[in-house]
Amino acid sequence: MRITFWGVRGSYPTPGTSTVRYGGHTSCVQVEVEGRPPIVLDAGTGMRALGRHLRRGPLGHGDGTVNLLLTHLHWDHIQGLPFFDPVFVRGNRLNVYARSGRGTRLSEAIAGVAGDAVFPVVFKDLPANFKFVPVTPKDDLNIGGVRVLPIALNHPGTSTGFRIDHGARSVAYITDTSPFDRIRYKRNFAKAPPKRLAPGDRRILEKMRRDLVSAIRGCDVVIYDTTFTDDEYEKFPHWGHSTPWQAIQIARDADAKKLVLFHHAPNRSDEDMDRMLADTIERAGDTHVAIDAARQGQVLEI
Ligand SMILES: [Zn+2]
Ligand SMILES: [Zn+2]
Repeated sequence: MRITFWGVRGSYPTPGTSTVRYGGHTSCVQVEVEGRPPIVLDAGTGMRALGRHLRRGPLGHGDGTVNLLLTHLHWDHIQGLPFFDPVFVRGNRLNVYARSGRGTRLSEAIAGVAGDAVFPVVFKDLPANFKFVPVTPKDDLNIGGVRVLPIALNHPGTSTGFRIDHGARSVAYITDTSPFDRIRYKRNFAKAPPKRLAPGDRRILEKMRRDLVSAIRGCDVVIYDTTFTDDEYEKFPHWGHSTPWQAIQIARDADAKKLVLFHHAPNRSDEDMDRMLADTIERAGDTHVAIDAARQGQVLEI
């Protein structure tokens, strides 16, 4: 299994001299399994370069399939889709797996990123064939011969993580999510940190955390939302994102082999990221979990 990071940033793209090493594109990760169609996790702005890369194969002449798994439909996770070259080649198939929310059909939500008010090519005129598959965290999916488990996360409007298994190899992609102890998201963004958590919500969050830990148990690689430092999290616990320390505890509890920090805050420079990674490794101390921070262009072979 090979994992390639095409976009690692959260919220919005941040090109520039201060993000050269870690990269400025938003979330897009490719998972390759020999002989299977590529799996793409999220369609952030990193997806454009991935599309150009994939055109060298069957997707370049209309004979390819992409299985796209979307955590959720926030802009930083879908904005690359209309710029993904394979959707402009007739004959290609794009299977889009995501949770549909609150009465919005998945196809309509995706069509919104290529609606005539915001994009020159209307979604229905894109030459590739799209198939939309709604998923729920109870599913156990076989996607092109690869096992995929959707996982419920705690984020405004909800988000869905994914565990991908093939043979003895496994990767989990866990973004975007708040921790599971202070706020439970039901619908949208919370305007202010909650004063206290209702007991019913506490129980639901505890179960969510247990379910997450058991879903990613023993994974070779866990890619995790680590948008915030501890100090930032204290200021914005209601923004729906986690810290490296919260990620380490989840990865340890799940006996993961490697944790990869991901969804870097847009204002975090390369030097800030170096520091965050070094601090995280130091704070984790003597642990069996290897720790790294995702860099655009990085490839992990597992
Ligand atoms: Zn995001
Ligand atoms: Zn989000």
